[in-house]
Amino acid sequence: GKGAAMVTAVAYRLAKQHAERQRILDSLRLDRDQLLEVKRRMEEEMKRGLAEKAHTTAAVKMLPTFVRATPDGTERGDFLALDLGGTNFRVLLVRVRSGKRRSVEMHNKIYTIPQDITQGTGEELFDHIVHCIADFLEYMGMKGASLPLGFTFSFPCHQTRLDQGILIKWTKGFKASGCEGEDVATLLKDAIHRSEFELDVVAVVNDTVGTMMTCGYEDPQCEVGLIVGTGTNACYMEEMSNVELVDGDEGRMCVNMEWGAFGDRGELDDVCTEFDRAVDDQSTYPGKQRYEKMISGMYLGEIVRNVLLDFTAKGLLFRGKLSERLKTRGIFETKFLSQIESDRLALRQVRSILQHLGLTSSTCDDSILVKEVCSVVSKRAAQLCGAGLAAVVDKIRLNRDLEKLSITVGVDGTLYKLHPHFASIMRETLRDLAPDCEVTLVQSEDGSGKGAALITAVACRLRDARK
Ligand code: BGC
Ligand code: MG
Repeated sequence: GKGAAMVTAVAYRLAKQHAERQRILDSLRLDRDQLLEVKRRMEEEMKRGLAEKAHTTAAVKMLPTFVRATPDGTERGDFLALDLGGTNFRVLLVRVRSGKRRSVEMHNKIYTIPQDITQGTGEELFDHIVHCIADFLEYMGMKGASLPLGFTFSFPCHQTRLDQGILIKWTKGFKASGCEGEDVATLLKDAIHRSEFELDVVAVVNDTVGTMMTCGYEDPQCEVGLIVGTGTNACYMEEMSNVELVDGDEGRMCVNMEWGAFGDRGELDDVCTEFDRAVDDQSTYPGKQRYEKMISGMYLGEIVRNVLLDFTAKGLLFRGKLSERLKTRGIFETKFLSQIESDRLALRQVRSILQHLGLTSSTCDDSILVKEVCSVVSKRAAQLCGAGLAAVVDKIRLNRDLEKLSITVGVDGTLYKLHPHFASIMRETLRDLAPDCEVTLVQSEDGSGKGAALITAVACRLRDARK
């Protein structure tokens, strides 16, 4: 009768909506061939970045870091470290002891950098940093101390020496004027002079390199550093003979890949979706850091939000009601994604997170769908990251002419550490795409701080040896 016809109509509509949602989500699902292709293109880009001629136009810059040796345990002393470019800005005091009581002791303080300062002038930014250093020294009761300083500066820098780094371009929403094209060590030193105290800026260090070094202090097999946090990037030990930008063929040098820029020459166009393009368009630097925008914490929530917007506009979610909240950029922080995807979480709790985000009109089905969107987006991120890492470890294996390579990767970053599934999916992808490499992933504790101090310590040790 009429009732049955209505039930059929409803069932039909629901099935159609379900198919429609899955069709959209399928555009965010990658198969094995696509991932292998990503790996292959990454390998190609790595070669381009290393080559003297192709380097200028390469998307993946493969920057020499002038870090040639991992710590050997004989370094010691007190060092200051700065960590700029991650979730927090920090100043650290690091005490490195050598010999039998070999250890690293750290004290740090977190400071905020107000948004108007990240978007203001370079002078304001560096004055603020120096102000924080002065506050920290006072807090530690070390006012007036002049210590060697390692500067973890997590942005792409062109280096010709360890104690210098010319900022190529800002990433991750930073926009302070007058810094691009300048040596950040000089900008820091100038600000230190303005405030009339003394510090010896010994090293400019990328966070990936700090992470590798920290892990390498415990494990000599650690020759790769990986960050999956606000942004993403990797570094590894490359043969000097392949590092064409630096003279000499002996030994190895750590190369800061700046792999976040992979895709900036179109290498990822065929895996990108309309949601990725929307996130890119709304970002501080459209067209830049395309791979990073598909992987890292600063952007995953935005991809999710754009998918939810599309679903809602098509009447497939939140009863088709577009809330002002959902239209607001940045509401889905990494920590919410990690919470929503946690297996221990009941749907009721997912719903309360959505409510907390101001998405009050959600039903139980909405919660299921939101969770599915989050997991599709983060799975793709972990797989893309795994494909990139597969290219790196396989390159190292081929460099050394090995059938099998056993290697350790030091990893840091809020997304990697907080997300319930990112690490395991990445590991699985890596095993699948680089079967001849036995990779151990080790979470590095405070790589950016400790690593910068260790690099500074090694540099001081070598400098003292030359005296
Ligand atoms: C920067 C890299 C950094 C990475 C992780 C990227 O946006 O370009 O230098 O290593 O973020 O912090
Ligand atoms: Mg960091």
